[in-house]
Amino acid sequence: MLNRRQFLSAAATGAAILARGQKAFAAKYDLIIRGGRVIDPSVRLNAIRDVAISGGRIAAVEAAIAGDAADTVDARGKLVVPGLLDIHTHCGRFTTGPGLVLQDGVTGWVDAGSKGADNIGETIAIARSSPQQGRVLINIGRAGILPEGDTMNLTRADVGAARDAISKNLDFIVGVKARLSRDVAGENDYEVLRRAQEVATSFNLPVMIHMGQTISPLGKLVDLLKRGDIVTHLFAPPPNSIIDDSGHILPEVLAARRRGVWFDVGNGQTGHMRWDTITAIMKAGFWPDTFSTDWNANSHETGVIDLPNCMSKLFGYGMTIDDAIARATVNAARIFPFLNDRGTLNVGAPADVAVLELRKGNFEFLDTYKNKITGHQRLFPSATVLGGKQIPRS
Ligand SMILES: [Zn+2]
Repeated sequence: MLNRRQFLSAAATGAAILARGQKAFAAKYDLIIRGGRVIDPSVRLNAIRDVAISGGRIAAVEAAIAGDAADTVDARGKLVVPGLLDIHTHCGRFTTGPGLVLQDGVTGWVDAGSKGADNIGETIAIARSSPQQGRVLINIGRAGILPEGDTMNLTRADVGAARDAISKNLDFIVGVKARLSRDVAGENDYEVLRRAQEVATSFNLPVMIHMGQTISPLGKLVDLLKRGDIVTHLFAPPPNSIIDDSGHILPEVLAARRRGVWFDVGNGQTGHMRWDTITAIMKAGFWPDTFSTDWNANSHETGVIDLPNCMSKLFGYGMTIDDAIARATVNAARIFPFLNDRGTLNVGAPADVAVLELRKGNFEFLDTYKNKITGHQRLFPSATVLGGKQIPRS
């Protein structure tokens, strides 16, 4: 029999236990994504997990999270991955672009050289009003992308104009783009890249080169690249592919990767990838560091479609789902500092999440020469969470 004092003490302890228990079991989250297969290569996780979100950040990634949430996403049978990052897109050309790619699961983007010093304000305005983080690469050609070739007239590769534009927009310009194909830069390719590098190094920024069908040998161009620079369109077929006719990756390309140059897909529409070149490069073991779309407003009518579709194209070449997710999340996050806290579902990270569906069947994939292959798995975007909030499907 407890006396009054013992009874009160026991009751207080019980109440404290109850209070703690309630806190543990009745946690209230803003959002819980339930029952999906979480693939987060940043922490080597591939397992069925719930993801709880509070205050715009990842609060827990655990099996069967107890507690309530204001909103729930049923992800059973789907993949739950960090929000996708597209480091080569042109969604900064269109006011509707960022919202469209957000539907595809893209929660961070880089517009790769749509505009130059004369008109960079147009893409910056779109990046500024973008729902997800968006930044731009300034085209070394001061007028940006031109049908007649950005730097066919070498005076357009204007170092002073580019430097001036960057110094006024350091919060949005994250690098310099040099498009080097023969129909863009002609015989100026080497000098255009030299000037792009001159601009970029003075701000400690990376250069992204658009390779493929250049007049100068690729090795000569790649030798101008420094650690942190990016080569996009790595699957571009000859002339001046990264691989020679006997199936060897060029020594200059191997050396570039060793010193920290990144190699990106840049799917695009013309001249950027052909299945036979892809086969040879994948077989040589030189896999891309990142996937990117080279997206444009017409991408749903071309072989690009969306970033999950571009990622699916290498499943038939030995790439696993985890490999593909890594290349559109954590790998991309390492390239640009503004993405450094993205590409992960770590507790505490900003809650940007893509829910994808992996469908099995027969799917037609296109290279940029209208050649088709059939694959047996394809990723489809299913839901996007940005800063902890589910984006309505349009
Ligand atoms: Zn592009």
